[in-house]
Amino acid sequence: MIDDTCIFCKIGAGTLPSIKVAEDDKTLSFMDIMPQSPGHVLIIPKTHGAMLWDIPADAAAELMRQGQRVASAVQRAFDAPGIMVMQLNGAAAGQTVFHVHLHVIPRFGGLDLKLHAREKADPAELAKLAERIRVAL
Ligand code: 5GP
Ligand code: ZN
Repeated sequence: MIDDTCIFCKIGAGTLPSIKVAEDDKTLSFMDIMPQSPGHVLIIPKTHGAMLWDIPADAAAELMRQGQRVASAVQRAFDAPGIMVMQLNGAAAGQTVFHVHLHVIPRFGGLDLKLHAREKADPAELAKLAERIRVAL
């Protein structure tokens, strides 16, 4: 299912641009435009659902399968000592885009997280980080 008003449905379908890290029939992984740390990736199912429980269980399983693969690649690409995998449901939890997604956020000692969905990064810098992750996949 696709929602014509949803930006992540459009990114998933390729009608809105993104800096891609990985893609298959069921999921798309791309760079967060307002990263909380360098290397912050989002993974979406290509079917629409606002909350984790709104998508079919097999779509959730595919999302997590790809999340595992991307988290491992991000860890190895940046030799990150920590990887945060985050998934927010509802505005009260901090969700700002109402299409299910996983955040993969590398964590480094002494580098605090930036505020959530606040500051746009340089697209050229995001493209370089994406290339390092793609090589590690
Ligand atoms: P949420 O707050 O829903 O958990 O996360 C939404 C994420 O999407 C935020 O981290 C935000 O920076 C990111 N984001 C919002 N709009 C866009 C966009 O148009 N493109 C990309 N690549 N990321 C976006
Ligand atoms: Zn959607």
